[in-house]
Amino acid sequence: MRWSEHQIAMLREMGVRLWPTGPETSAPPDRALPPTERAADPVAAAPAPRAATPVAAAASVGTMDWPVLRDTVAACTACKLCESRRQTVFGVGSTRAHWMIVGEAPGEQEDRQGEPFVGKSGQLLDNMLRTIALTRGEDAEPAHQVYIANTLKCRPPGNRNPQPDELAQCEGFLIRQVQLLQPKIILAMGAFAVQSLLRSTEPVGRLRGRVHHYQGVPLVVTYHPAYLLRNLVDKAKAWDDLCLAVEVARGSV
Ligand code: URA
Repeated sequence: MRWSEHQIAMLREMGVRLWPTGPETSAPPDRALPPTERAADPVAAAPAPRAATPVAAAASVGTMDWPVLRDTVAACTACKLCESRRQTVFGVGSTRAHWMIVGEAPGEQEDRQGEPFVGKSGQLLDNMLRTIALTRGEDAEPAHQVYIANTLKCRPPGNRNPQPDELAQCEGFLIRQVQLLQPKIILAMGAFAVQSLLRSTEPVGRLRGRVHHYQGVPLVVTYHPAYLLRNLVDKAKAWDDLCLAVEVARGSV
């Protein structure tokens, strides 16, 4: 991939070095991360066992349009997260976007503002997206737009790990968002999102670098921006993941 001056500047901002990186095996294994790197710890979450009758998997969710789905999420009391949330965080971006980003769960700022990825990791995410000419704004062409959502629509108190029953209750909402959006590519960020979507216990480091599928949509795995803020060395790998996703979105992979 060739880069413009602007992209090179953005890559520098991301901390990406513009020369070939070492072999994958030279990076520290994901499981060496301290437990405090919650969003980044790829072995912290087992895949969520599915509840027998998750509320968001109820048949009616599969027929909802965007406004009804948003209202249904806002009124959801299917799990205990409804007791501690300020508000639900449904998603942001154009509903015509070709790209979908799936993160883990709202943090404190997202819970306050009602929008995904508005904290520090959101700033890095926006910078990463700019390097490949993508925006969560509504003005661009659909091919340059992203829709951003999380696996959980409510903040886990104290930013604790999402629990399997919470992921199970919420997944139907995400599935409906995917059905309505019909993105060309899903970029899944961080262990919880990735492992939950792919029903895998594999760490991010082993799932990245190839194309998976979720609900029939090609899915590329990458590190969570919160992880990248603390593990600068892996930003180059995240850049590789973005490049793979670009190729997939173009239909060339
Ligand atoms: N981390 C996420 O995974 N999602 C957000 O919305 C914010 C932080």
